[in-house]
Amino acid sequence: MSAVSVLGLGAMGSRMAARIAEAGHDVTVWNRTAETATTVAAEIGATTAPTPAEAVASADVVISMLADDAASHAVWLGEGGALAALPESAVAVEASTITQTMAIELGAAMGGAERRLLEAPVVGSRPQADADALFSLVGGDADALDAARGVIEAYSGGVRHVGGVGNAAACKLAINGLFGVQVAAYAESVGMLARTGMSVADACDLLGGLPITAPGLQRILGLFAEQNFAPNFPVRLVSKDLGYLGQLADSVDSAMPVASTAAEVFATGASAESISELDIAGIAALYLEDVASG
Ligand code: NAP
Repeated sequence: MSAVSVLGLGAMGSRMAARIAEAGHDVTVWNRTAETATTVAAEIGATTAPTPAEAVASADVVISMLADDAASHAVWLGEGGALAALPESAVAVEASTITQTMAIELGAAMGGAERRLLEAPVVGSRPQADADALFSLVGGDADALDAARGVIEAYSGGVRHVGGVGNAAACKLAINGLFGVQVAAYAESVGMLARTGMSVADACDLLGGLPITAPGLQRILGLFAEQNFAPNFPVRLVSKDLGYLGQLADSVDSAMPVASTAAEVFATGASAESISELDIAGIAALYLEDVASG
């Protein structure tokens, strides 16, 4: 069993910390909003630390699960950040969805300090995190993955090594692009059908039963039909990820016109106060206003 520090206890990090504690590891937690850390630590039997640096000082493995590039930069490289205090033998696992540029910057900073970084963004959302069933995409050194695998597997149903640092961010952003594009396309199609006079429920039932509709989208259509947009993967985070995907595509001169249009749709959703915190399925709210649901 390892000494594991978890930095970031939002919807995902708190669940991952719980799975790691359940697996028998000795868990220390830190969160920017300290009250959250106190609550989570009490629930899962972890210790709290007042700063990222103090949280990681005795760690074998550190998992960070933070909102975005700015959060990752602040927590690892900012004042009181984790990097300066990370033991030489520790493995840092950045599980947040960040840009490829940020992952590479973090890897370089760790390398300079002779610590090992894995980037390990996850596919799956809160239900998968509750069920140890996230899919972890890992970029970095195979030996570092061997050292951290037991901890990553505490919350993952699948682990795939996709290459060096930066590769996992690229894969994760491509995957979220595929998901976002499809959710946006189904949402606008349901909205269009509803305006032709079909009920939302019938449109969702029809599209959800087709052989061209992937299982993940069948679930989303069920949520459209119920207009159940309780957040798992909030629109604001989808929008962030599609923005990062656009930056990556530009940096490698790769045309992604479809993903770029989906990014605009989710940016519109994220800028609407009533939609931003809804689940990814809640993007349908852009198209379902004033249409018959039953
Ligand atoms: P969340 O609930 O919004 O939690 C975000 C976490 O980041 C919180 O702990 C927050 O601290 C912290 N944070 C934000 N800005 C910070 C800053 N400047 N400095 C330090 N800490 C900061 O998000 P989540 O759903 O857990 O997602 C976490 C990451 O996983 C994101 O990168 C997301 O894209 C990715 N992801 C999410 C899902 C999903 O379905 N939700 C699925 C796969 C991947 P406070 O508590 O103080 O605000």
